[in-house]
Amino acid sequence: MTEPTEPGEQDLVRRSAGEVERSPGARPGRPSVRDAIMPAPTQGFGVTFAQIFRTVSTEQYPFEPKVTKPRYHGRHVLNRHPDGLEKCVGCELCAWACPADAIYVEGGDNTEDARFSPGERYGAVYQINYLRCIFCGLCIEACPTRSLTMSNDFELADDNRQDLIYTKEQLMAPLLPGMEAPPHAMRLGDDEKDYYLRAPEVAP
Ligand code: SF4
Ligand code: SF4
Repeated sequence: MTEPTEPGEQDLVRRSAGEVERSPGARPGRPSVRDAIMPAPTQGFGVTFAQIFRTVSTEQYPFEPKVTKPRYHGRHVLNRHPDGLEKCVGCELCAWACPADAIYVEGGDNTEDARFSPGERYGAVYQINYLRCIFCGLCIEACPTRSLTMSNDFELADDNRQDLIYTKEQLMAPLLPGMEAPPHAMRLGDDEKDYYLRAPEVAP
């Protein structure tokens, strides 16, 4: 870089580059008063010494598990109705909303002999590829039944790619007391509207 030769030329160059203006006569690289009193190595040790008195922020993970914020976006969960039937209706809206193409869904038809969800269809195949997922949460926003939500679980590391494709069985919420593993008949009403409009009243 060439030195400005004319008075005022230096200011013009710096304004055009968007830099902070220096006081007239100041030149980059000129030693400050502090530099003159204390050599650079001593200043460096001063920074190190000051760290000794600061509060230590080391976290003892994994011996003390980290507590995330309540709305942290972690591993997904496929939720159930209070009788154990699945909330997923296999509509694929979550897969279409995903910007990373991380979700794969295949819908299946419920029958009277094999019912997995209250509606006509259920998610027969459901996979999330955590090698692709960026935890943006667009999929849970798109889900019309609140089947898909995200937990606070962030411990997803693994040593092979195959195990990071989570299957429906891995993503399904556990059966709580009073729930029955599908397939089974609708326990909370005669049609699926009862599950969304009356479920809290009629749940066991
Ligand atoms: S959190 Fe985002 S990237 Fe991950 S599956 Fe959902 S939409 Fe796709
Ligand atoms: S999780 Fe929700 S959006 Fe995705 S297929 Fe199931 S019901 Fe549809």
